[in-house]
Amino acid sequence: MKVPYIMTPGPTQVRENVRLARSLETTNPDLDLKFYDFYRETCKKIAQFLKTKNEVRILSGEGILGLEAACASLTEEGDRVLVIDNGIFGEGFADFVKMYGGEVVCFKGNREREIDIDKLEKFLDEDSNFKYATVVHCDTPSGVLNNISNICPLLKKKGIITVVDSVAAMGGEEVKVDEWKIDIVIGGSQKCISAPPGLTILSISKDAFNVMKNRKKPIASFYCNLLVWENYYENKWFPYTQPISDIIGLGVAIDNLLEDKEILSRHSKIADATRKAVKEAGLELYIKQGYSNTVTVIDIPENIDDAKLRNYMLENYNLMLAGSFGYLTGQVIRIGHMGENARIDKMSYVLFALQRSLEFFGFNCKCNMSSLFLNEV
Ligand SMILES: *Cc1c(COP(=O)(O)O)cnc(C)c1O
Repeated sequence: MKVPYIMTPGPTQVRENVRLARSLETTNPDLDLKFYDFYRETCKKIAQFLKTKNEVRILSGEGILGLEAACASLTEEGDRVLVIDNGIFGEGFADFVKMYGGEVVCFKGNREREIDIDKLEKFLDEDSNFKYATVVHCDTPSGVLNNISNICPLLKKKGIITVVDSVAAMGGEEVKVDEWKIDIVIGGSQKCISAPPGLTILSISKDAFNVMKNRKKPIASFYCNLLVWENYYENKWFPYTQPISDIIGLGVAIDNLLEDKEILSRHSKIADATRKAVKEAGLELYIKQGYSNTVTVIDIPENIDDAKLRNYMLENYNLMLAGSFGYLTGQVIRIGHMGENARIDKMSYVLFALQRSLEFFGFNCKCNMSSLFLNEV
């Protein structure tokens, strides 16, 4: 299979050392006791990466499993849950809450801007009777970034458990779980972590575990039950056979992140320079304020078909960008400069190919995007 350069906001490119690690010989992860140490060590590395003393779990399934597991484990019939929504993933949390019997109250933000903390605070002054709240760090379909460093402490001050979807942000944006009082944060292997799809990671606070343990009724799921993992290490028991190659690869991908001291500043510089080049060219960014450093979302110029544009780039430049979905279908093109994709050489090629392709379809850029990017970065 010929693989194009994938510059999508997940899955991202996977470094050779991660790919090679996934091909190592594997043991029986249930019976070989050394694997329990390996799993625990990998969780500890992830905790270091997320700046937390909380427990970490790696579950077999992508980010969506992590979102559902958090909601399944916390929600009981009739619980009031605050869903903070300024994007497609933000809104999507409501489905999981309802599925497990919760009563959703939405706090809706402007979809082109980050959540307004003052408005949220006013809202909470009126009503803060929620068991937990959900918020998305980077809502990938639009590329909006929410400031979880002020949202989570505010919620926590009101006694609300916080659940953060940072699947498309962690690794490219700062996440300080303990300092920001995040009860549950969820990540996926295929975004900035830059391992292939397959795993979700969660850090879970004592407060979150206490809520789960004090439920009136047991959690109505097995795969999504975050309590079944309790004492896995002491009991030498996993709820299901662990995807050992995926976890070995994830461990190396996390090492790559921990060793890369420039990773956050590189994401920020690349994202800034990309936005500048795009604007100078006469294109428009979808987001007006609250830009994620992991993905850039650009309005498609009038009279250009997004699927045709992307196909042209794929056929002529072997480059894959993404469209979007939901209310953004056909409206925007998305570049994922996250994790292994956040490299100057790669982004310079993306902007070159995008410019040539736009020109093919009749849109003339007002600057040389690739040169401008290289000068700025
Ligand atoms: C990618 C992503 C997810 C998880 O999606 P998967 O398809 O399960 O990887 C969840 N939330 C956000 C914001 C995402 O970008």
